[in-house]
Amino acid sequence: MIDAEAGHTLAVVAVEMTKTPSMYTKWREFMRKQGIELWACVRDKQVIARVTAGLAGIASILIIMLGIADWQVRRLDVNLIPDMEESSHAYDRNGKELCQFWKQKRTVVPLSRISKHLLDAILAMEDHDFYNHHGYDLAGITRAAWANLRAGKIEQGGSTLTQQLAKNTLLNARQSYWRKLRELWLARKIEKRYTKAQILEFYVNRIYWGSGFYGAEEASQGYFGKSASELSLGDAALLAGITAAPSIYSPHAKLDRCLKRREVVLDAMLRHGLAKTSEVEAARREPVVIQPRPEQTNRLAYAADAIRAEVLDTLGYQKTFAGGLRVYTTIDAKMQLTAEEAVGNQLSRIEKEFNLLKRGTAAAPTVADHNKTNDLQGALLSMSVQTGEIMALVGGRSFVESKFNRALYGKRQPGSAFKAIVYAAALSAGMTPATVIEDEPIEFQTLEGIYRPTNSDQTFSGAVTLRTALRKSINSVAVQTGQVVGVDRIVTLARAMGLQGPLPAVISLPLGSGEATLFEMVRAYSVFPNEGRLVHPLLLRRIEDKHGAVLYEAKPEGHQVLSPEVAFLMTSMLMDVVNRGTGSGVRAGGFQMPAAGKTGTTNDYRDAWFIGFTPEVVTGVWVGYDQPREIARRAYGARLAVPLWTAYMKKLPPSPKQFPRPAGIVEQLICAETGLLATPECDVVSEYFTQSNVPHDLCPGHHLQDSDEIPHSQTGQNLEGDSQMRSGAH
Ligand SMILES: [Zn+2]
Repeated sequence: MIDAEAGHTLAVVAVEMTKTPSMYTKWREFMRKQGIELWACVRDKQVIARVTAGLAGIASILIIMLGIADWQVRRLDVNLIPDMEESSHAYDRNGKELCQFWKQKRTVVPLSRISKHLLDAILAMEDHDFYNHHGYDLAGITRAAWANLRAGKIEQGGSTLTQQLAKNTLLNARQSYWRKLRELWLARKIEKRYTKAQILEFYVNRIYWGSGFYGAEEASQGYFGKSASELSLGDAALLAGITAAPSIYSPHAKLDRCLKRREVVLDAMLRHGLAKTSEVEAARREPVVIQPRPEQTNRLAYAADAIRAEVLDTLGYQKTFAGGLRVYTTIDAKMQLTAEEAVGNQLSRIEKEFNLLKRGTAAAPTVADHNKTNDLQGALLSMSVQTGEIMALVGGRSFVESKFNRALYGKRQPGSAFKAIVYAAALSAGMTPATVIEDEPIEFQTLEGIYRPTNSDQTFSGAVTLRTALRKSINSVAVQTGQVVGVDRIVTLARAMGLQGPLPAVISLPLGSGEATLFEMVRAYSVFPNEGRLVHPLLLRRIEDKHGAVLYEAKPEGHQVLSPEVAFLMTSMLMDVVNRGTGSGVRAGGFQMPAAGKTGTTNDYRDAWFIGFTPEVVTGVWVGYDQPREIARRAYGARLAVPLWTAYMKKLPPSPKQFPRPAGIVEQLICAETGLLATPECDVVSEYFTQSNVPHDLCPGHHLQDSDEIPHSQTGQNLEGDSQMRSGAH
C-alpha cells in the first residue's frame, strides 16, 4: 500500500528525474531490464507452480474463514429467542403479589395484551416495511451504508425489527461490518422459523426501555402505572420514541426531550398511515403524567428480602433472578403490614414515653456494621403453630435504613423468656406445676465469686409453686429449679427445641444468660401449643417456573421434643402469665382469644421480649438497640413488648380453636400453699398433673400462720384461669 507520504516522495523523485535526462534514461533502462526478467520468470514453469500454489493457499484460507463465520452463525440457536430473562414474582398465602426480583425487570405478555397503538408506533419508527420484508431491508441497508461511508464510521443501523431482535438476542451489541453480516444471516433464519406476529411479540417483550425496564409491560407499568394493553396513542408514541436511545429519551432523563421525540413518532405514524390526523391531534393534547422513579420502600421489604434469600438458596442465581418464577409464600400480606405498622408505632411510643433520643438524632454511628443503626429497634415474627408457616416477619424498623433482619439473625439474651424452657425441663424431669420451692435470698459460690439471684422488685415471696414462680417471673426459683433439674439437662432441651446460640451451662442460665434469635424463641415456644412437636418454620410453600412446572414444594417437617402432657402443662402455666401475670397487658390491651406467653427483660434493660401464642398462632416480639445498651430504667418486656404483641395479635381473624388437652392429663384439687392433696383446712386450687405425678400425700395442715405470700384472691383467680382453659371461654 502506498500511503500519501510515500506517494508524494515518489512524485518528487519522478519530477526530479525528468529534469535530468541522464537519470531519466538510466531509469527507463532499469525498468526495461526488470520487465524482461519478470517476463522470463513468469515463463519459468517452476515459478508458475509456486505462484499457483500461493494462490491456492490464499483461497483455502478464505474458505476456512468463511467456514468459521458460517459455523458461528449456525451455532446460534434461534429456538432460544423466545427464552427471555424474566422477573420472578412472589405471592402471599392468599395469592396477592408481594414482590418481584430480577436481573432484567421484565414481565413477558402476549401480543394480545399489548396496545395496538404501541405496535404501530414501533413499526412507524423502526421498521414500517416489517410485514413485507424477509428479515432485511436492502434499500435501508444501502441508505445506512452510504451514510456510514460518508461519516467514516457506523452511525446508522438500517436494521429491521428482525435484525434488532437477532442482535439483541444472540449477538453482542458491538457495531462492526462483520457483526452486521452475521445479523443479516440470522435475521433470515429467524424469519424462516417464526411468524411476523411472533417476531413482533419477542421484540416488544425483549427490548430495553430505560430506567431498568425491559419489555413493553414493565415500561408501561413503570412510566405510566398501567398495563401495556391500556396505552393511549400518546403514551404509545412516547414509549416508541425511547428505545432507540433509552438513556437519552427516557422521560425520567429529560421530559421535554422525550416529548419532542414523541412528536417525531407521531409524525412518522401519520406519514406511514398508521394513525389518522384527528387521532394524532388528540394525542398531542393528551396530558402526560409520568410515574416517578420507584423509590426503595419499607413496605413488605424485610419479608421480601427473606423470601429472595430463601429462593436463591433453593434454586440458585439464574433461576431466581431471571427465571420468571412464581413463588408462593406463607406470608400473609395483611398481617405483615399490620406487623410493620405495629412495630413502628410501638417504637415511637416507647421513645416518647421514656423520653429517648428521637430517632435519627443519635450521635454518629458507633457501630462499625453499616447494617446496624443507633435507633431503637424492634422485630416481630409470627407463624402458624401447626405448620410452621411464617405469616409475618419484621426484621427492624426501616429496611431502607438497615437491611439487617433482627428477627432472623439478631442474637440476643432471651432473659426471662428462657424460663419457659427451664420449667419445661423441670416438668419433663418429673416436677409438677404444684412443686413448691422457697423464694428466698440464696447465694452460690462460683468461680467469679458469690452469685445472688435477685428478683426485679428486690423482694422474696416465700414458698411458691412453679406455676406461681413462672407467672410472677421469680428469679431465685428459676435458678433453684435449674440446680434441681441440672443446667446441662436444660441446655439439652433448649438445643432440642432449636436454640443454636451459645448457652453456657452456668448457674444463671435459667435467667436467660445465653443467646438466641427471635426466630429460635418463636419456634421453641410453638412446641407448647403444638402438643410437644417442633416444626420446621417455612417461608415458601411452592415455586413454579414460568410454564407452571413445580420446582419446589415445601414438606412440613416436625418431631416430638416434649411429651404432649408436658407441653399442655407448660401451656397452662403460660396462660396464667397472660391472664394475671407479667403478661397481663395482653388482656388489658383487649386481646380475648385463648393465649399464653412469657415476657423477657435482660440485665440493665437491654432487651425487652414477649413470646406468646394462641392455639393456632405463635408470635414473638423483641425491642432493643443493635449495640446492646440500656433502653431505659424499668423498660420491662411487659411495658415495651407486650403492647406490641397485643396490637398485632388483635388483628388476627377470630378462631374458636382451643388448646388441645391430652388424655393423660388429670385435674386434681390441691392445697394452694403446699401443692399436696387438699384438706378441709386448705385454700383449694385446681391443678393439672400427668397421671404418674398426681400428689398422693395429704397436706400436713397449716399449724403455722398462713403465709401471705400467696394471697387467697390469687388462688381464686387461678381456678378461674384453669376453668377458662377447660371451658374455652373467650
Ligand atoms: Zn394445705
